[in-house]
Order: sequence, then C-alpha cells, then structure tokens
Amino acid sequence: MMTALPVPTLAAGPAGLTLEGVALADIAARFGTPTYVYSRAALTGAYQAYQKALGMRKALVCYAVKANSSLGILSVFAKLGAGFDIVSGGELARVLAAGGDPGKVIFSGVGKSVDEMRFALETGIGCFNVESAAELDRLNDVATQLGKRAPIAFRVNPDVNPNTHPYISTGLRGNKFGVAFTEALDLYRKAARMPAIEISGIDCHIGSQLLDPAPMAEAAGKILGLVDQLAREGIHLDHIDLGGGLGIRYRDEEPPTPTDYLKPLLACFEGRSEALCFEPGRSLVGNAGLLLTRIEYLKPGVEKNFAIIDAAMNDLARPALYDAWHEIVAVAPRELPATRYEVVGPICESGDFLGHDRDLSVAPGDLLAILSAGAYGMTMSSNYNTRPRAAEVLVDGDTVHVIRERETLEHLLKGERPLP
Ligand SMILES: *Cc1c(COP(=O)(O)O)cnc(C)c1O
Repeated sequence: MMTALPVPTLAAGPAGLTLEGVALADIAARFGTPTYVYSRAALTGAYQAYQKALGMRKALVCYAVKANSSLGILSVFAKLGAGFDIVSGGELARVLAAGGDPGKVIFSGVGKSVDEMRFALETGIGCFNVESAAELDRLNDVATQLGKRAPIAFRVNPDVNPNTHPYISTGLRGNKFGVAFTEALDLYRKAARMPAIEISGIDCHIGSQLLDPAPMAEAAGKILGLVDQLAREGIHLDHIDLGGGLGIRYRDEEPPTPTDYLKPLLACFEGRSEALCFEPGRSLVGNAGLLLTRIEYLKPGVEKNFAIIDAAMNDLARPALYDAWHEIVAVAPRELPATRYEVVGPICESGDFLGHDRDLSVAPGDLLAILSAGAYGMTMSSNYNTRPRAAEVLVDGDTVHVIRERETLEHLLKGERPLP
C-alpha cells in the first residue's frame, strides 16, 4: 500500500510517516492538529513537470490561486517565476504580498467589480479574461477613467464536455462561464473599436479534475479556428490561454502527466508565434499537501464504527461537497487487525465525514493523514460551528515553516458585537 501513496514526498519510516525529512508526529507535537502540511519539493516538482513538458515553447504557467492561496504557497511559485491566475481583488493582493509579478497575472471570473478592475489596472496586471459584453463595457469605462488601456482576452466557451463532476465542468453552453463561441467574433470586433481596450489573447477553461486529454484537444482545435478567423480580420493575438483543469490521483485515477496532457495541445499550436498560457491549480498543489488530524474518539456502533477526528468538513469540504474521496492513512499504524470506520468530524451535520468505510489499525489519540488535500482544502475552509481554522506548515527538507498560524477564538470574534 505504501508505494501507492499519491503524495510523492510522503514515506513510511520506523517512527511513522515522514514528509521530506520530517516526521508527521513531530509536526503534530510542535504545532497541534488539525494542521495542513505541504511539501516544498512536491510543489516544485509539480511546477517543473509543466516546465519540462513545455520545453522551449514560449509559454507561461499561471498558477490558479484559488486552489490554495496561502502566501507561503504563492511565494514558492513566485520564486519559480510562475504567473498567477486570479479570480478576485483579494487574490491579487495575496499575489503581490507573496512577491508575484503583476505583469504575469491573469484575472478570470464572471463578476469583476469596478473596484477590482481599478485595483488590477493600477497594479498593471498582464491580462483580463473577459467573460461578457457587459464586463467589456465596464472595463473600457474604468480604464478610460484611469487613463489606461486594459489588456484583454475573451474567455470563450468551446462547448465541449470534459466528462468530469457537473459542479466543476465549466465549458458547456449551459453554464455561467465565458462567452458563447458563436458570439466571440462580434465581441472581438467590438473590443477592437474601444479606445481603452487592448486585445491581447483568447482564453478557455473547460473544467477541473480532467483525466482525459481529448476534450481539451478538441477545445484547442476550436479555439485555433477562431484565432485564424480573427487574424483574417486583422485582429492578431499575442497569447492563447488554454486554462487549467488537469486532474490528479486521489484514489486510483490515472491522470495523464503534464507531458502527455500538453502533447496534443502543443502539436495543435506547433510553429505558431503566440505565447501559450496555462492556468493549473489542482495539479500543482493537490498532491503536495495533506491534512494532519488526531483521533478524538473511537465509537463502535450497531451498524458502523466511527472514528471521530479533530478535523471536519469546515477544514476540508470536498468530501461533503462533492462526495470526493481522499486517501486516509494512519501516521503510525498499530499491530492490530484493521477495523472498518466512518471517519467523521465533530460538526453537527450528518454530511460531516472525511471518508466512508476505511480500514484502519488505530487507537484513540492516534494521528491520521488525509492525503491529496493541497488543493481546494484550506481555501474552501470555513468557521462553521465556530471552529478556528487549521494551521498550515510547509516542509522544506528538514525545516518546517509555519505559513499560517492556527486561528484563535479572538480572530473569530473580532469585528462582531452584541447589541447594546
Ligand atoms: C479553477 C480555475 C482554474 C484551475 O483549475 P484546476 O482544475 O485547479 O487546474 C483555472 N482557470 C480558471 C478560470 C478557473 O476558474
């Protein structure tokens, strides 16, 4: 089983699991639980896999900040020279605080406010991915007021089915993202006449946790047709952004490597002068992190046995939200026959589970690691049930950096007041 762990820098040692050079038990003793634990080597390795796949191609990998927006994580990618894909002004502030280059920032999202546009223009971001005609008008107005030109790409909806979970499929005609393929040409013509708009590229993003490269290659073909049509009208693009979405292994999925995923896309754009952009989130951070938690109680039941842990759906929402499966392993398994448990948190909701039917050899007080939790874990966490959010640490060789202190009740109550 140990060879099959999806987190690449996790290993079983005599004192239990280690991440890079550090025992998870030591991390729990020093920083408490629940704690998100990330591996710098795994983050770097995931980024370099993209760089290797892209080779000498003029290309930029823009890390999708919403997957994990902690400053410590962003700073790792900023030091590697990555760009960033953001979906709010708050994420832009994070990128700047982490030392990211604003010129390599792409701003996606259907609901950009005037304030967010102003902030992004003043910062000098690389490109706005515009998702509607109304947004284009607003951006032109805001840029005019500031005496600036806004670089844009339209996010075009190529209407292909990525065969993923419906909540994370974004490139079909019936959803809120992007502009319809059939309307894109007219929108580019309109944008070309706007004084404060500078056409820079085209963008698409069809969904998340994609395991099959074919839908993306189909989308790329459609985008390319549009790029050529634009060129015939004298509208030339500097870059083509093919979004994010490459899946990872949580259980037994077999996602393509970045090399295999990008191969058909690179072939599609072979010999062309436009820069290529990608917006990976999950595939850069998902398997570089785990959630370290302690068993509070073991509760045998009539039908099911429960392992009640100190992490919950407010810390990691994916199981409750998408019925997602995360591998759960004992940090130091006992010499006991395994018992089948429902692994649940303390929250007052039946949906508060981290895993169903897990065979574990554990006792109360033991540590568990919930794997593949680096993406859409901490960023989707909440304070539901007035639970302070987990701490986050980043392991770098044998050094452990605290990148976010555990929240306290003081943090939680700040800004609230009872009626006089
Ligand atoms: C969420 C998102 C991404 C990242 O998706 P992953 O599946 O995490 O790679 C990229 N681009 C846009 C526009 C997104 O909304």
